[in-house]
Amino acid sequence: MSLSLSTEAKFLKGVGPQRAEALARRSIFTIEDLLYHLPFRYEDRLRFTRLAQLEPGNVYTIEAEVVDGNLLRFRGRRDAVYHLLVRDPTGMLHVKFFHGAYLQGRFRVGQRIVLHGKVEIDRLRPARLEMVNPQFEMLGTSGGDSTEVGRIVPIYEAIGPLTPRVLRRVVHGALEGLGENIPDPLPAELLAPYGLPTRAAALRAAHFPPPEENLDRLNAFETPAQRRLIFEEFFFFQLGLALRRRRQQAEPGIAFRVRDERIREALKRVLPFKPTAAQKRVLAEIVADLERATPMNRLLQGDVGSGKTIVALQAAVIVIENGYQAALMAPTEILAVQHYLSARRVLGRAGYEVELLVSGMKPAARREALERAASGTTQLLVGTHALIEDPVAFQKLGLAIIDEQHRFGVLQRKRLREKGASPDVLVMTATPIPRTLALTLYGDLDLSVIDEMPPGRGPLKTAWRSEEELGRVWEFVRGEMKAGRQAYVVYPVVEESKQELKAAIAQYERLSREVFPECRLGLLHGRLPSDEKDRVMEGFRTGEIQMLVSTTVIEVGVDVPNATVMVVEHAERFGLAQLHQLRGRIGRGREKSYCILVAPRELSGEARERLDTLVRTTNGAEIAEADLRLRGPGEFFGTAQHGAPALRVASLLRDHQLLELARREAFALAEDEARAARLERALASHDPSWQRRYELARVG
Ligand code: ADP
Ligand code: MG
Repeated sequence: MSLSLSTEAKFLKGVGPQRAEALARRSIFTIEDLLYHLPFRYEDRLRFTRLAQLEPGNVYTIEAEVVDGNLLRFRGRRDAVYHLLVRDPTGMLHVKFFHGAYLQGRFRVGQRIVLHGKVEIDRLRPARLEMVNPQFEMLGTSGGDSTEVGRIVPIYEAIGPLTPRVLRRVVHGALEGLGENIPDPLPAELLAPYGLPTRAAALRAAHFPPPEENLDRLNAFETPAQRRLIFEEFFFFQLGLALRRRRQQAEPGIAFRVRDERIREALKRVLPFKPTAAQKRVLAEIVADLERATPMNRLLQGDVGSGKTIVALQAAVIVIENGYQAALMAPTEILAVQHYLSARRVLGRAGYEVELLVSGMKPAARREALERAASGTTQLLVGTHALIEDPVAFQKLGLAIIDEQHRFGVLQRKRLREKGASPDVLVMTATPIPRTLALTLYGDLDLSVIDEMPPGRGPLKTAWRSEEELGRVWEFVRGEMKAGRQAYVVYPVVEESKQELKAAIAQYERLSREVFPECRLGLLHGRLPSDEKDRVMEGFRTGEIQMLVSTTVIEVGVDVPNATVMVVEHAERFGLAQLHQLRGRIGRGREKSYCILVAPRELSGEARERLDTLVRTTNGAEIAEADLRLRGPGEFFGTAQHGAPALRVASLLRDHQLLELARREAFALAEDEARAARLERALASHDPSWQRRYELARVG
């Protein structure tokens, strides 16, 4: 049978039903999928180092023969060390595997093996070298076939029962079977300038590199073959974004009038303070979009408290003054109410009609809100995702503002947009996003960044305290409250699960009764009825409530400048970005603010780094980079639906330069009708799976 890239992997030699199932669990269904499971490392098995040449402190790949193997157990210790003695024609080497009980009986005397690991001086016998916990591979009886020795060998991550060695054989077989049948979706004109090979050549060389290839370059993923595959992946993702953007820009949008004395006056009238330079700059960017007859698709990024809301409200004023309606969608009810209240303060005072729509409303109020939106009476409708539900209709929607985008998906953005005829769209996010992620997640949006905080803010200090120190922490908080300021105490209630909620409630009661009997405390969590939430929030806003004990529902949007202290209990259970968001609730007034992270002193490496990062810096960009590094792109946004691409080959951390290159090329190609059409035709004719994978055909 002749193979093609779309042939199912189960038809490959060496892949039975059981192995096919294991592959399928990793989303490997076709030969193409398999070939994009690249080795994570390469070993030079062409030029094995001889045992006589080993020097301590270096990593080597060696080929040797088993002389002896023993499991050594030590008295009083539960783990055992497997001790292996190997030799080659030049000498002997001791090899130790800690927790090595599983190795008993696996090595035969005379067995040929390849070992890869670091050579060190045996601490007990300084004259002797040893290799500790190396990776190893047994060679076949003939001393190994052509896929395992005598070349630079790919080392794969195992997939279930498919060991690295099995994968190597299967991949080798697949490449043999394909022969020349590996078409290239990338036109040569894109590859040549960067010295990138064809897909066929790249796949071959990435799996079975030529003997002259440099091992360090391979292991750094910097060979032309690897770069080609990384470029390809980024290119098609970016092309999908570029085409989506082109389609959006082809839609007829509304050209709002801005250069008009009346509108200028209106903008001035609503502005309660002098805008920062950054706010002025991003408003100018937004205004330029509003004036243009193509729909705006813009991301407004700015740290918590940087003043995005007023900019968005100014955009709304322009739209309203042009006779259109605006909508503002927030991810939670609490945040929607917050926005509603501040919009009413700012716009209501100037005589604009601002309305709220959330799912918790009474039927009569809801009906009325819907009617007023549909008739055009409402000029700004603020709400939760209730806004995109079916019964909501606008008379003339001109601007859709979406706050905290990462909690919504591309689809929700689209649904809100469809409530009007090509309205302008402004997405706001306070999640600091490293540029590489912004380019992939929001790559179809233009980007505006507020990189400056409003003036007159007191400094914010962050400290890490252990639970044993809580008594002192509470005394400190008491001092701040005596001085007239307010405090947050936050509990980790991740999924608002019953048990966690109980703990938060119990702590609230304990704090009220035993620790702060003289103070006024409030409790806020997601399970409270809407009017109760409103009452508590209002109480905190007016200062009636001095201490707000809450779950993470305050993560976004709450704005009480007089709150200067935040105590986060079990801080180690929160993510870095989330803690940063939480902390953004304080440091909003002139007074000095304090964020106290309560967590055990002894923490795992990653949790420790999270807390250390927060103590060290309040810079959102720095925190974003640290978060990306600690969690990896896949986890970056937690479990939220986010549309981050599942990259097979590329890494957002490692390959950002190729991402920028691929983005430039993809956007240039999308701009060029003739080139884009040619590429789309080529993709459609020989490789339909690509269109699905990169959503090249989907209207976003
Ligand atoms: P974000 O939405 O970016 O988190 P907000 O828009 O809620 O930030 O603004 C945070 C606080 O700063 C609000 O109380 C707001 O009124 C205030 N603020 C915003 N811009 C300015 C400014 N230029 N000068 C003074 N205060 C400002
Ligand atoms: Mg905000």
